[in-house]
Amino acid sequence: MKRIYTAHDPTEAHLVKGLIEADGIEAIVQGEHLFPLRGSLPVTADTNPSVWVVNDMDFDQGRTIAQAYDRGARASQTPAPHWHCPQCGEELEGQFTACWKCGAIRPLA
Ligand SMILES: [Zn+2]
Repeated sequence: MKRIYTAHDPTEAHLVKGLIEADGIEAIVQGEHLFPLRGSLPVTADTNPSVWVVNDMDFDQGRTIAQAYDRGARASQTPAPHWHCPQCGEELEGQFTACWKCGAIRPLA
């Protein structure tokens, strides 16, 4: 048995497990019972829920699926694009909702 993915929470672990099983690979989630204890335990890869392939020979394929999922999940978390203040033209980063220079509120895209 080999670990192919360390999830952020049990929901994500089961999501990845489902993706892998959809490809005909036997997979299990481990460590989810430890999740509610986070906060009292040091947070390491071992206290996060993780996804394992049952058969070692499925490792490469399972890992590829998990990595593809991980890339997709990160892409959907990319910060909002830069925007330009309609009042003074200042370029602002996506996380700001108002212009730091003149105080104008960010217009709705
Ligand atoms: Zn401005």
